[in-house]
Amino acid sequence: MHDIWMKPLAGDDVAVARALAALQRLAPQIGLELNLGKCELIPAAGGASIFDRDLFPPLGAVGQPHNITLVTNGDFELLGAPIGSAAWCDVHTQERSAKAQLLLDELALLDDPQIALRLLRNCASYGRLVFSARVAEFGSHSEALADFDARVRACFDAFTGLRPSDTQWRRAALAVRNGGLGLRCIGHHAAAAFVASRSATVARCTQLDPAHTWDGDRPTSATAAAVRNLNAVFPASTHINPLVPVNLSQQKLSMALEDVDVSRMLDPAAGLLDTRGRAHLRLVHEPGAGAWLLAMPSYAIGNAIAAPQFVTLLRRRLGMTVFDHESNCTLCAGVMDAFGDHALVCSCGGDRTVRHNLLRDLMLRWAKAAGHAAVTEKQGLLPPRPFLGAAWENGTAGADAHGRSEARRPADVFLPSWSGGRPAAVDLAVTSGLQAGLQAVSASNGAAATERYADRKRSYLNTAAQCADAGLTFVPCIFEAEGGIGREARALLSTLARDAARLTSEEASLRGQLALQSLSVCLQRANALAIAHRAPGSAPPVSAPLAAARDQLRFAAAARFPAAIPLAVPIPPATPAGAAAAAPPFTPVPVVVTSPVACGSFSCSPPALCATPLSGAAPAAAAAPAAPPPPVGGTSSATPPDDDPHMCSV
Ligand SMILES: [Zn+2]
Repeated sequence: MHDIWMKPLAGDDVAVARALAALQRLAPQIGLELNLGKCELIPAAGGASIFDRDLFPPLGAVGQPHNITLVTNGDFELLGAPIGSAAWCDVHTQERSAKAQLLLDELALLDDPQIALRLLRNCASYGRLVFSARVAEFGSHSEALADFDARVRACFDAFTGLRPSDTQWRRAALAVRNGGLGLRCIGHHAAAAFVASRSATVARCTQLDPAHTWDGDRPTSATAAAVRNLNAVFPASTHINPLVPVNLSQQKLSMALEDVDVSRMLDPAAGLLDTRGRAHLRLVHEPGAGAWLLAMPSYAIGNAIAAPQFVTLLRRRLGMTVFDHESNCTLCAGVMDAFGDHALVCSCGGDRTVRHNLLRDLMLRWAKAAGHAAVTEKQGLLPPRPFLGAAWENGTAGADAHGRSEARRPADVFLPSWSGGRPAAVDLAVTSGLQAGLQAVSASNGAAATERYADRKRSYLNTAAQCADAGLTFVPCIFEAEGGIGREARALLSTLARDAARLTSEEASLRGQLALQSLSVCLQRANALAIAHRAPGSAPPVSAPLAAARDQLRFAAAARFPAAIPLAVPIPPATPAGAAAAAPPFTPVPVVVTSPVACGSFSCSPPALCATPLSGAAPAAAAAPAAPPPPVGGTSSATPPDDDPHMCSV
């Protein structure tokens, strides 16, 4: 055998020696010098090769600075790819893994898990070894790949303090769009990487060597092993034909692999997840549900999430419990499940209104950035109904029949010029597909919750039709509490992004992503706070002055709407005639803001001036002895009545 490699020169001994001599002669002319100590001469037949050594500079072993290293065992590296024995390939990948460990160690020490996760996903995990998986023969370095996956998992455990089970870690390994964290396991996707790489390069290989052939049909080949590995996972209808190169990119193969993974998790027969778990996986799989994980973790742009909240959100994302056990909600005395689902729909404490108002204000900001003269909570869009007898003309009574005018406000965000120049009323709401009555439906259709609530928004008080009669386009903008975004909301954001891009010359898709991410972060932060406020055994989430303000608000509201208020605090006896001077007048107390929730819940200050009726309180809120009045300022009259304590109506 005379064929040898001297990277990247290849050919017979005479050709390689001639090329080497030319390099040594020409390189100095441009200021370069060939370092022979870093050159390797690799006989293609290893130690059995016969070639003319006198054609070359002195040959020696590794580490001799002035000699070319002669590699006779057939194990070498070419363009970063290990070529040779399986043991060599495994060692090569182990070394690459060990180099990555330096970065993993540093990430493990970060005290900001949001930043650490982003760096881990983008810089220190799957991407570090995917090249090895593409270029090293499948099966030759399986142990090294598995070892690297374990290192990544240990890093995640370190900076989050979490210990997800194997099933939960499989969810973390899913792409963000599939409901995971994007921490793809290289060992799981190695076959896809190798088959895709092998298929994409077979034509080039044949150009270099006409004798080269596709080897997927050779049972002992690495290609055949990789195809078998994939076909063992794929359903029969999508099996790969081992006889010809696959015409799919690695990305598509990996996506197909994940589709199978998700399908198995969602299969009740597999027994991996219960109904709630399957519903949750469907919901986090919905469009936009993972945008908060892709947002730049920056306080400057408002997308940072504090460490404890981020870890809570990671727990929920992976299907882990956030509490040790089920307990009573600290605010409404309802059942607080260990996953924290109740906190996302609990009608007490004002968290839902905070969440709604923050999302509304963000939507307003993005609408203005798109050039729309948007305003929030615009009144007078719909005419009040005539009041006949004890009810409105359509027979509805309830809260609106207590003497107040029917100030109908279907627009959380009003857009004066929308589709076709018509104004639009954007009604924003958050619902939950995990509420008890919807779990079974959500387990088979992740979009059911947003679709149902959008329908409810349209039909309640005939709002959509009345808006149409008034020349308004009614847009129910529904978010699911896990982050999924309803169809109309996606269309709205897409249009706003397009309008904004016209003003800034940016990519509309980029504007859309930024808007979606900011809304998603806002929603998830509010969720995490709501969970924290209901932690079993936690201190009351409001300060004493704020609690006093709430009590006074109850008295003030009771004086106005006595029949509608189930009071936790008795109403003072009526002041006798002539004794008014002795009765202490109601005096609003200043609200001391002690947390973001307190601030948002009591945006109407002083509280006694708030005219929002208390009769919209959910039954659970009304029954709770310590329940505060419902939050003010966030619920439009177009909002359906909150007759279901687990249906978020804000
Ligand atoms: Zn509650």
